[in-house]
Amino acid sequence: VIRRRTPHLRSRRVNAVLRVVASFAFLPVLALADASTHPAPPGVDEAAIDTTVSACTNFYRHACGGFLKTAPVSERTPRRGLFEARFDNNLQHALDRLFDSDANDAELVRLATFHRSCRAAQRETTPADDAYLARWFARIDSARDRTAIELLARQLDAIGVEPFFSYDAAPDPADWTRWRGELGAPILYAKAVTVAPALEISGLAPAHARDAAAVIEAMALRLRAARDGAGERPVETLSWQQLESRAPGFDWAGYHTQFGAPSTRPIGVPNVDYVVEAARVLRDAPLADLRAYLRWRLLLSLRGELPPKYAPALSTLPPSLRGTVGDVDGRCRDATVRAMGVEFSRQFSKRIVGTDARNEAHEIAERMRRTAIGAVQRADWLSDDARRAMLDKLARLDLHIGFPDRWPATGRYALTSSFLENVEAARRFEQQQKWKRTQERRDRASWQEKVYPWVGDGMASARLVLPNGFPDAYSNSLVMTAAMLMPPQFATDAPEEFNYGTFGTVVAHELVHVLELHMFGTDGRPAELWSADDTQRHDARMKCVVSQATAFVPGPGLHNPGDRQADENVADLAGVRLAYEALAAGPRETTRRESQTFFYAYAQRQCLAQTPAELARSIDDDSHGPAEYRVNGPLANLPAFAEAFRCPSDAPMASPEAALCRVW
Ligand SMILES: [Zn+2]
Repeated sequence: VIRRRTPHLRSRRVNAVLRVVASFAFLPVLALADASTHPAPPGVDEAAIDTTVSACTNFYRHACGGFLKTAPVSERTPRRGLFEARFDNNLQHALDRLFDSDANDAELVRLATFHRSCRAAQRETTPADDAYLARWFARIDSARDRTAIELLARQLDAIGVEPFFSYDAAPDPADWTRWRGELGAPILYAKAVTVAPALEISGLAPAHARDAAAVIEAMALRLRAARDGAGERPVETLSWQQLESRAPGFDWAGYHTQFGAPSTRPIGVPNVDYVVEAARVLRDAPLADLRAYLRWRLLLSLRGELPPKYAPALSTLPPSLRGTVGDVDGRCRDATVRAMGVEFSRQFSKRIVGTDARNEAHEIAERMRRTAIGAVQRADWLSDDARRAMLDKLARLDLHIGFPDRWPATGRYALTSSFLENVEAARRFEQQQKWKRTQERRDRASWQEKVYPWVGDGMASARLVLPNGFPDAYSNSLVMTAAMLMPPQFATDAPEEFNYGTFGTVVAHELVHVLELHMFGTDGRPAELWSADDTQRHDARMKCVVSQATAFVPGPGLHNPGDRQADENVADLAGVRLAYEALAAGPRETTRRESQTFFYAYAQRQCLAQTPAELARSIDDDSHGPAEYRVNGPLANLPAFAEAFRCPSDAPMASPEAALCRVW
């Protein structure tokens, strides 16, 4: 039996670690009007610095103050990051070039066709997209009995809507080299504030839309209660026959034959109560309610691709589901990632990032690994056994930097000028790939593991065009996406100390997560590498990290939850030190100016303008600390910082020796 805290049922903590910079990708892409339309080169942004604040008093306010004072934030755009804005600008610039770059490359032509259909459909609602949705609504409305409803649900499964059950590949605990199927619950969002306007826009009369929204919301609440009722528990391994007896009344045989899976292979079921309740809903809910629910599930699943007339409804979605609303560039970039993520990532990697950047980034990442190995060797609080295990784990960690050499398969389906038809064709292909994967061996070299953040489902979602870095606990690997290897984060012509301060600190941060994930072995299998004493000594050291963060005041009346941020704060604390040590270990001595560049690069990557409401919201639900703390906290604990800026010993940014926190 596998408990939570293992990969099969991720604990909230592991989830948080895997998410890393997930929130980044959901931000609305900034309108380019207020950003430069030229690619921003990497380097310290002089204009962002506020010289009226001393570096030794508050380095975040010093390095970012100029930006914070001028960045326009509002209720509509409640947050704006210096690097995010520069990155979005650079990315859009790169993509505009990409789509026109080579008419002889068939893959590029397919991408351009898809992207063009998106732009036309997202500028204004097209008759083709209206007709596409109308055809699905008509099919749903014509389902007259439960068999027809189940059949329809399967047809929706085939295009990735998965109205009642999600079915995906997860590592097989019985054979770690294989995938197996996992039957889970889809996202269960159905608040009437979104559902009612969405249904009305889809063609229902206002009163009908309101009534249907109430029914849908109640159905989702019922399913949610079943899903969350029993709390966290182990993933169950069940055969389809066993599932049949646990959740009767649903055509499980019909359901699973669509995956082409031999019925003898058991599957993982993280939440049997949900599955039982969903089968019951399909058996006892009025047919009209089920039809309304399916209509909503189709709209929710296509929320990133719906025509612009749906924008008023989409803007009421919670931020984690909203994606980009009302911006053609951003919506079409994300839609292309979702539909043709592998093609998009491959072209982006090959033509925009390139192997020189990958080689150089790989070299930096290897140096970070060596520095982390040194830190583990010096961690005197670890037992010998634990140290050996951690060193082995680090040595065998796969560094997936930028992009793979071997790419997952891509489809040959026809693409037309009809956007939603194209989306459906791409989803159909991806869904087949996903289902096929449940039968396959796990192949580390192909980067088949999910690449977060979640902008799309499955591996179409190579998603390497989105900046992200994370450890993949299941395979003991670390992924840094191709987008991390372009300005403003990284450039082959940027000074080394700059790349170390941005890209290098992110790699080091992720390496610390790898160290902290001591409940996974060298091959990613659940295995405790520490003794109870190791854990106890680690937790004792973490108290310092927690109490420093708790003492930080993010704003008037705000409390910083240091305990909830501990995993991220320790990764920041050790990450920036390791990256600096790696830089300083280079062949020649680091000058004071180079050190300063490193620290500016680190800080400016975090510059983030926020409305007070957004700051309060992020403190409530982000596992990372506020940007100001993520800069000042770790740097005040690093004597090299105070040295680089010649801070007096009583300066706020120069913690006395006795007060320094150190875990790794
Ligand atoms: Zn992290």
